[in-house]
Amino acid sequence: MTPLIRLDDLTIAYDRHPAVHHVSGAFAAGSLTAIAGPNGAGKSTLLKAIMGELRPAEGRVEHRLGRAEFGYLPQAAEIDRRFPISVIDTVMLGVWKTRGAFGRVGPADVKRAGEALAAVGLDGFGRRHVGSLSAGQFQRVLFARLLLQDAGVILLDEPFTAIDARTTRDLVELVIRWHGEGRTVIAVLHDFELVRAHFPKTLLLARELVGWGPTAEIMSSANLMKARAMAERWDEDAAACEAEEAPAA
Ligand code: ADP
Ligand code: MG
Repeated sequence: MTPLIRLDDLTIAYDRHPAVHHVSGAFAAGSLTAIAGPNGAGKSTLLKAIMGELRPAEGRVEHRLGRAEFGYLPQAAEIDRRFPISVIDTVMLGVWKTRGAFGRVGPADVKRAGEALAAVGLDGFGRRHVGSLSAGQFQRVLFARLLLQDAGVILLDEPFTAIDARTTRDLVELVIRWHGEGRTVIAVLHDFELVRAHFPKTLLLARELVGWGPTAEIMSSANLMKARAMAERWDEDAAACEAEEAPAA
């Protein structure tokens, strides 16, 4: 395997509280990897660190890629859809990302944006306001933006959460196509059935690495129980902290 992105003892912290702890391993060029783990396991944090949006507290993320070579789909909760912007302009943001905010956007780009919308089943939706779309339609728009951006590495943060079954099926197909085209795809997912059906590799995270390798091996019930037990320990720690602080309040 040719490693494209290597994590070397990576620790990411918020206010010195580690959200990702001593993670090491590598994503091969052209691999299709699911990141799984309980809520608060550090999955979103890890994606941001891979892109270079968060700096490691310890260890390193090693790759030779520029920011424009990463296509990124944030978790739905981090996107504000009330922002008054049309569908076509949202898709065009995929071009601005690669060319910079002052790069020239020409008629060819507009045409490609229209084609990307058609490819995700939203032909003719260009002038609609993003706020008027269903969750599934909006997710299709964000996938169209990724299509236009044409990045070699694609990072998806819970792309199918709260999305209808039909849209999920269509967008999973796009992910599989990207993989077939040799792109490196890393997706945070909490639907284990989807992970087992379509993702050859899994990184199971519970702040620390539980396992990283072939999906069938990593998604064993023993590993999943271990991940859950680790998450329960953080909750107990939090409760203990609150109890300790209570008398002072
Ligand atoms: P996941 O995506 O696996 O649910 P996250 O990466 O979002 O987990 O969060 C991991 C931990 O880091 C959680 O305890 C969360 O509360 C904390 N965290 C995430 N983002 C921030 C932030 N911007 N500031 C402070 N703490 C954060
Ligand atoms: Mg998350």
